[in-house]
Amino acid sequence: MPTLTNGHAMVQDVEKTFGQNTFGLSEMKSRLPKAVFKKLTATIDKGEPFDETVADAVALAMKEWAVERGATHYTHWFQPLTGRTAEKHDSFITPNAGGGAVAEFSGKSLVQGEPDASSFPGGGLRATFEARGYTAYDPTSPAFLVEHNGSATLCIPTAFASWTGEALDHKIPLLRSMNALDTQASRALDLLGEPVGRVYATCGAEQEYFLIDEAFFEERPDLLVAGRTLVGAAPPRGQEFDDHYFGSIPERIMAYMNAVEAELYSLGVPVATRHNEVAPGQYEFAPIFENANVAADHQQVMMMVLQRVAKRFGLACLLHEKPFAGINGSGKHVNWSMSTSTGENLLDPGDTPHSNLRFLFFCTAVVQAVHTHQDLLRASIATAANDHRLGANEAPPAILSIFLGDQLSDVFEQITATGTATESKQSGFLGLGSPVLPTLPRHAGDRNRTSPFAFTGNKFEFRAVGSSQSVSFPLTVLNTIVAEAIDDLATKLDAKLGKRPSKKALEAAVREVITDSIREHTKVVFNGDGYSDAWHKEAVEERGLLNLKTTPDALATLTDAKNVAVFEAYDVLTEAELESRKDILSEQYALTLNVEAATTESMAKTMVLPAALRYLAEIGEGAESAEDLGLDTSGAKALAEGVVTQVNALQKALGTLAKARAAAHKAADESMAMKDKVIPALTKVRAACDALEKEVPADLWPLPTYRDMLFTGK
Ligand code: ADP
Ligand code: MG
Repeated sequence: MPTLTNGHAMVQDVEKTFGQNTFGLSEMKSRLPKAVFKKLTATIDKGEPFDETVADAVALAMKEWAVERGATHYTHWFQPLTGRTAEKHDSFITPNAGGGAVAEFSGKSLVQGEPDASSFPGGGLRATFEARGYTAYDPTSPAFLVEHNGSATLCIPTAFASWTGEALDHKIPLLRSMNALDTQASRALDLLGEPVGRVYATCGAEQEYFLIDEAFFEERPDLLVAGRTLVGAAPPRGQEFDDHYFGSIPERIMAYMNAVEAELYSLGVPVATRHNEVAPGQYEFAPIFENANVAADHQQVMMMVLQRVAKRFGLACLLHEKPFAGINGSGKHVNWSMSTSTGENLLDPGDTPHSNLRFLFFCTAVVQAVHTHQDLLRASIATAANDHRLGANEAPPAILSIFLGDQLSDVFEQITATGTATESKQSGFLGLGSPVLPTLPRHAGDRNRTSPFAFTGNKFEFRAVGSSQSVSFPLTVLNTIVAEAIDDLATKLDAKLGKRPSKKALEAAVREVITDSIREHTKVVFNGDGYSDAWHKEAVEERGLLNLKTTPDALATLTDAKNVAVFEAYDVLTEAELESRKDILSEQYALTLNVEAATTESMAKTMVLPAALRYLAEIGEGAESAEDLGLDTSGAKALAEGVVTQVNALQKALGTLAKARAAAHKAADESMAMKDKVIPALTKVRAACDALEKEVPADLWPLPTYRDMLFTGK
């Protein structure tokens, strides 16, 4: 292996290692009979139905490939509604007549699995006695090999459904929504006179995360159980110096990132950028975008690898949206666009968007979709954890508006005013005042960190998505609502066109259709400061936009008639499937808060209060010694008084918390009660604990502090 000049081995040769642990197209091509390969690629590339007669051949090739690489087991890898992934490993080994054993894997085992569904959330879709569930092979997402110490497991991406065929996972609705988007976008392109084979959604999700020393992680019951710190006073220094973002990456972290990349490359996940994020201890990885279904699988793989590799370096990777109070939380920016099968990006505006009718048509559809279904987008990112970020002046507000940037906003304004746009503002070049520096072309629009949904050059960036969540549901919502908007615009366009419209007639009709839509929906476009109070007021009072501040507020809208209708119209989710998702999300919200409340209570009672009382005893002893010496003990008494006051406050807050929890369990709407009663009670308990942390001596404090976790051990 070649070495670097610092003596370390060069760990990777990306061109050789990329995708080596995936059963991808080139591997399939070399191992499968030609006819089989052709049928399989028709499914992968063209979305044609999977021909089950090729299953045996595919299974055989896949098994041989995996076994050669050390695989002993395979698993149908799926994404139940827990938001995580699930796997049950089955061995390839089958005993043979001679008393030995052979590795076997049939087409049937590839295509269908039968995990017991009763332990996964079903949200009322499945009574516990109807435990049967099925996993089904997704040929469009490559199978991959996860290596362990001494063996490997073949992971086959699958969809997961109930015995009655209802979706119990995130993949099925995502695939259905991609189909809907393809159908509508292809139809619109036909009308626009630019037919293509297929259109698919693309996604590149930027993942933010924290790294802390694993030893600290294990000493904090809250991080272990709830993924975030439930008590902890702010350190004397936070992120106010703005010196961490893009700062140089510490050596241990760099070694970790290298190892993560090596693993992701071998799994075919195209990670491209890495950097420090805004908060101390916070970092980011971003991949190159892919077909949204594959990207969603790869996103899950990335989260798994980030956490697993951290242990190797004595680190813990925190994916929670808000691990530390008072410090920026983590998001996952979901970049989204639509691509044709020939690789053209339908949201690429070109240099003169005003005259690019195809772009204007699709961009208008997105604006219409977001305006019409702000509530669905908000609900798609609603979790107890993400509520800590949204609207906290660090992440986008809970109001879903769109940032279009200067150039596009101007084009939209021209259209609103006159029904047509005649020019696109050009941004020109940036001279830097020194002849040795190059002149830079300036982007047509600036960036806006406060927008939840921003146009960034040739894609939209859904920035309000949470760092720990699956990207599948937000993508499913986007695909579905945009499919509906395209359908609507295409239907109106179709009605205006004669049999063989001239180019001029087509252009005029497109302009009419998009002008009507823009005039109605441009209210959702906002380029200003999303954090300002003025915007919150204007958004709600003048523009009639929704401000669904918390998860229970957002989830309440999920099954509104309009939302049931859009999912049913495009065959993405039935009403029952949508109801079940709502139930599961509400239940998860209440469960999360319940775990947080129980953990806070136990930490306060078994760690914080005893530490405070030990300190009180120490003060007492000190005061006694002082008294023995005939000295003034007023300082010691004041200290003791301060501690006792906080101890009493904490004790009282714990009483309130216990009552709030009991009331919430009995409430008709448990998640609403958790939000209204338990969260304020938790906040009080925390305040009392954090006040004590500032008083109690460091050697008596039983928990690693924010300073320990955020600033040491890198
Ligand atoms: P930015 O700096 O604006 O965030 P980047 O070029 O870093 O832009 O891209 C951020 C993410 O957006 C990357 O994951 C990238 O692959 C993804 N992305 C770029 N183009 C598209 C597209 N057409 N569709 C979906 N995602 C895209
Ligand atoms: Mg970005």
